[in-house]
Amino acid sequence: MKILRIAALIVCAMVLAGFIAGREFARGSHLSLVDFAVLLTNPPAVGVLGGDSLARLPVASAEILPGSVSRAVRYQEKSQYLNHTRTVVTHTIDDATQYVPVCLDTLDKYGVKATVFVSTEVQPISQLWPRLERAVGNGHEIGSHSRRHQCHWPDTAMFCFRAYSDYELSGSRGDILRHTTQPYVWSWCYPCGNCAALDFVHRKTAHAGYLIARNYPDEVHDGHVLPYLQTYDAHPYNATYTQVVQKMGGIAQNGRTGVSEVNAKFDEVYQRGGIYNFMSHPQWLDYGPGKFYETAFGAYSRPSGYLVCAHGALYTYHTVRESTLVRALDPKQSKGRFATYNNLDPHVYMNAITLEFDAGPATGIFPNGRAINERSLGVTDRWNEEYFRREDARIYLTVRPNRILEFR
Ligand SMILES: [Zn+2]
Repeated sequence: MKILRIAALIVCAMVLAGFIAGREFARGSHLSLVDFAVLLTNPPAVGVLGGDSLARLPVASAEILPGSVSRAVRYQEKSQYLNHTRTVVTHTIDDATQYVPVCLDTLDKYGVKATVFVSTEVQPISQLWPRLERAVGNGHEIGSHSRRHQCHWPDTAMFCFRAYSDYELSGSRGDILRHTTQPYVWSWCYPCGNCAALDFVHRKTAHAGYLIARNYPDEVHDGHVLPYLQTYDAHPYNATYTQVVQKMGGIAQNGRTGVSEVNAKFDEVYQRGGIYNFMSHPQWLDYGPGKFYETAFGAYSRPSGYLVCAHGALYTYHTVRESTLVRALDPKQSKGRFATYNNLDPHVYMNAITLEFDAGPATGIFPNGRAINERSLGVTDRWNEEYFRREDARIYLTVRPNRILEFR
């Protein structure tokens, strides 16, 4: 009996110690039952609809023609990038600091669209919301950089479980939706690059509704300076970039501000027809004509076929392009009719994509019966604008999918 009592006391002491340790671990973390529940379930496929996409248009199967020709119009292919540009430039800026407005003003001066990652409980965020809302209206994207920007080296699994709570992940995207008119929050950015390689963190990020998460790899060893990615990252929840453009900051040993070395990387990506993806911290920049941040935009001021778009929109374009099908239809009275459709939720995937046609004698295009404009000059800087443009007999139609296209 005495042994049993001692054993019971030891068990009670262990339970009590575990309870106290657990309470200390969770103190201030905002961990909740949701944080445990999401570990046991697969994340949902964000923005994917069930049902029959063709029936939603609606198109009957009897209307679909074999091949890619509908009377006088031939469908060719989907352009790799929006507007059939050769290269894409995308830019991300991190942290809710007082330098965000001047950074956005500089971007607007050069027509560069960026994704602005903000931490929604870090001041001066309350003063930044009006400027961020204006940025949303001007084609920039607001992404989440958590609520409190918690960092720790080394980023152990215990730290990551505590820091990547639903409070931080879902809470911050709710804050952005509440404070701006942006209809969805597509993009996450890992504070200090911590925890970006952990599978359970990716799952929690997907559970919270994000489609893409940008990293900041190995800042301890300056690995974040030149990750040198030149296309889409195959790992969207641990997605890296081409290079930083910023002074030394944080725990890094080096910055990257040399105009020639920075622009040389843009030229390399441009030559290969890739994606030039650069990131900066607005608090580690110099602003004004001739200063390195503005001179870094010099390379894109040359007349050339590149598109500038926000980071989230670039990745959602990729998914929309992969998912969209185009079918030739019975032309009825028109010069050509096509169905363009996918199984993606248009409230999440809002992108237009560019489709290529040999349109013969057709002079107008009517998606779902409404005429769209022909564009003769320049490239769009929005990712959901609809228009078409011509190059000889080829028509590049930039249109949101899930439409019936009629050529007249
Ligand atoms: Zn940060």
